[in-house]
Amino acid sequence: MTAVRPSPFPASTVLGYPRIGPHRELKRALESYWSGHGTWEELEATGARLREETWRRLGALGLGAAPSNTFSYYDHVLDTAVLFDAVPERYRDRSPEDAYFAMARGADGLAPLRMTKWFDTNYHYIVPEIGIDTAFRLAGDKPLAEVREARALGVDTRPVLLGPVTFLLLSQPAPGGPSGFAPLDRLPDLLPAYERLLEALAAEGVGWVQLDEPALVADRTEEELAAVRTAYRRLGALTSRPALLVASYFGDPGDALPALADTPVEAIGLDLVRGRIPENADLSGKTVVAGVVSGRDVWRTRPDRALSALLAVRERAARVVVSTSCSLLHVPYDVERETDLDPALRHRMAFAEQKVAEVVELAALLAASPAPPRPVSPASRRGSEPPTPPPLSGGEPAPSSPVPPSSVPATSVPASREGRSPYAVRAAAQAEHLRLPVLPVTTIGSFPQTGELREARAALGAGRLDEDGYESLVRAEIARVIALQERLGLDVLVHGEPERNDMVQYFAEHLDGFAVTRHGWVQSYGSRCTRPPILHGDVRRPEPITVRWSRYAGSLTDRPVKGMLTGPVTIVAWSFVRDDLPLRDVVFQVADAVRDEVRDLEDAGVAIIQVDEPALRELLPLRRASQDAYLAWAVDAYRRATSGAGDRTQIHTHLCYSDADQIIAAVDALDADVTSVESARSHARLLREPAVGGFERGLGAGVYDIHSPRVPEAAEIEESLRAALRVLPADRVWVNPDCGLKTRTYGEVEAALTNVVKAAHHLRGDH
Ligand code: GLN
Ligand code: ZN
Repeated sequence: MTAVRPSPFPASTVLGYPRIGPHRELKRALESYWSGHGTWEELEATGARLREETWRRLGALGLGAAPSNTFSYYDHVLDTAVLFDAVPERYRDRSPEDAYFAMARGADGLAPLRMTKWFDTNYHYIVPEIGIDTAFRLAGDKPLAEVREARALGVDTRPVLLGPVTFLLLSQPAPGGPSGFAPLDRLPDLLPAYERLLEALAAEGVGWVQLDEPALVADRTEEELAAVRTAYRRLGALTSRPALLVASYFGDPGDALPALADTPVEAIGLDLVRGRIPENADLSGKTVVAGVVSGRDVWRTRPDRALSALLAVRERAARVVVSTSCSLLHVPYDVERETDLDPALRHRMAFAEQKVAEVVELAALLAASPAPPRPVSPASRRGSEPPTPPPLSGGEPAPSSPVPPSSVPATSVPASREGRSPYAVRAAAQAEHLRLPVLPVTTIGSFPQTGELREARAALGAGRLDEDGYESLVRAEIARVIALQERLGLDVLVHGEPERNDMVQYFAEHLDGFAVTRHGWVQSYGSRCTRPPILHGDVRRPEPITVRWSRYAGSLTDRPVKGMLTGPVTIVAWSFVRDDLPLRDVVFQVADAVRDEVRDLEDAGVAIIQVDEPALRELLPLRRASQDAYLAWAVDAYRRATSGAGDRTQIHTHLCYSDADQIIAAVDALDADVTSVESARSHARLLREPAVGGFERGLGAGVYDIHSPRVPEAAEIEESLRAALRVLPADRVWVNPDCGLKTRTYGEVEAALTNVVKAAHHLRGDH
C-alpha cells in the first residue's frame, strides 16, 4: 500500500446532516422494531433509504463533498464505542443489536449507560464507559460499509468519525476502577484501533476522513492539548491513510488550534459563526473548512458577512472550503414545507436544505472573488458585493432590518424576591400550610401521553374536533390521572400535562412573539425529537395559559396539585431564537410572561408551583471565562419569573440531566424551595458531590429513570433514597421520578410508582 496523495478538498461541504428522516421515518422504524412489530431487516432498510436520500439530495443541491457515517440507529458516540469494542462486559452476552440497544435504553434487568447533553445542544449522547482494561480494537465496519453503500449509488463520501480525544473526554471511567484514572489515559491504546480503521479506509480508496473534535472548543489543560498533538501526529504519521480533516465546532478552539496546526493533518474545520478568524496559528499549509453557515440556528446566512470571513481565512490558509459551522443534525430538514408560517418570516429562515444551498452559493461567490482579496475592486466579477468590513461578530450578527430597541430594562435582579422571605421562613410557612408527610412522593409533571390524546390534538388542528370536544377529552384525562395518583398514594399530585404536546411548544403557542412549525423536528436522543418553536419577536403573554387546567385538577382532590410551568431559560434554550437582541434580554421577556402566569396560578389557589429549568446547564458557555456572567443572568431570569409568589407558595424546579454538580451554586441561587434532579441513571452522582451538603433547600431525588422502559425495584429506589438521606436531612428530601412520565406507558408508570411509594413508605418508618 502506498500513501494516498490527498486530492484537494472540494469547494463546499457540510459537517453532517439530520438522520431522523424528513418525516421521522427512523423514529417510526425504531419504535416499531423495539415494540416487536418490525424486524431488524425492516429497520435496516429504513436506514439505507434515509442514507440514500440524503446523499442524493446533497448531490442534487450541488454540494461538493458529502459526508457519510453520519447516520446512526441511536447515537454516534455509542456507535464509536461499539466500533472500537468499548462495550462493558455486562452488555456482551447478547446479539450485537440487543447489546447496542441495551446500552442505549436498558434491557430486562440491565440499566442503560448514562446519557447526557452533547456540548451546549439539546442533543443527548450515550456516555461510554472506559476502564483500565477496556480492550480497544477495530470491531466493526460501519464507516467502511457506508462508504461502499454510497459508492454503489455513485457517490464518493467522506466518512465522519468522532475523534479519539473527544471520544475519550466524553467517556466516563468504568465503575470500580482506580481513583485518579481518566479515560484519556488510554489514548495510546485507542490510537492503534483508529490506525487500523484509517488503513482500512485508505485501502478502500477513501480520499478524506473527518475526525470530529468539538471538545477542543472548551477549556483544555496542557495535558489534554498534549493528547491532541500525540493523537494527530501519530495518525498523521501513518503511511497509508486518507487525508485528515479535524473538525472543531461549537466555538473557538483557542490554544488547541496551534496544537492541531502543529501536526500533519491536512485540513482543520473551524466554526466561524461562534469562533473568530484564527490569528494564533500558522495555517499556511492547511486546508481550512470554514464553517460560515450556522448549523445551530434557523436564520438565513448574511452573504456579505460570510464572504468577508471566507476571504479573511483565504489569506491565511492554503485552501478554503465553505462549510457549515457544525453538523446540521441540530436543525430541521426543509423550511419550504412550513407552508403555515408567515411568508415574511419564512423568507428569513433556512433549515438544512436551505443551508446546504447557501454553502453551495457561498462557494461560488468565493470562487468568483478575486484573490488577493484586498482591495476588492468595486467592479468585481459577477456583480458580487464587495465584502463589508469585518469584524465578523461572534454569533450576534446585526439584522438586516433595523434593530428594535430592547424592550427589557437592563437592571440586574429587577423586582426579584421582593415578596419572598429567606428560605427558612418560607419553609416554615409552607410546612404549616401544606402539612405534608416526611419524604413526600411526587412526580415531575407529565403522565403518559396516550395515542388518543395525540389523535385528538391532531383532529383539533385539522378541524375534525371542536374545542369543546377536545376540552372534555383533556378533562377526562386529568380526572383519570388524579384518581390514579390518589390510588397509588402520591402526596403531591400533578394534573399530568395532557393538554401539552411539549413543555416548550405549548407555551410558545400561547405567547406572542413565537411561531411554531409543523415539520421542524430535531433529534433529541435516539428516536426522540423535538420541534423547537421560532422565537422571532417580542414576547408577551396575552392571557393566562395553564390556570384553568390547574383549577380543574385542584377541584378533584383534597391533596395539593402542583402547577406546572416551563422556565424562561428552558423556553429560550429549546427554541430557535431571534439573533437581533442579546439572549439575556430575550430570556427576561419570557421570564416576565412566566411571572404573570405564576401570579395567576397563585391567585387561583395553587399552593405549589413548579417552574422547570432542565436547560439551565445547556446554555452554559463552554468556556469557563464566560460562565459566571451567564449564570448570573440566568438566575436573575428565574427569580424574575418566580419571585412574585408569596412565602406560603412552594416553588419547585426540575433539572433533568443538568449535570447540576457543575452549577450547584447557581441552582442554589435559583432559590426554589424544592429542586428535583436526575439521580437514577447517574447512580445518584450529584448526591455524592460534596457540594450538595451545602445545598440548603429541598431536594427531589430522581429515583426512577424514566428514559428506560425498565421498572425499578423498590429496593433499588430505597438505596437511592438512602444515598440522599446520607447527605441531607430527611425533612428536605423529596421522592420522585427523574423526569416527566410522558414517554412511558401507563403499565410501566403504575408499576414503577407503586415501587416508588413503597420505598418511601418503608423509609418513612425510620424517620
Ligand atoms: N414537567 C415536565 C414533564 O414532566 C418536565 C419535562 C422535562 O424536564 N424535560 O414532562
Ligand atoms: Zn426532566
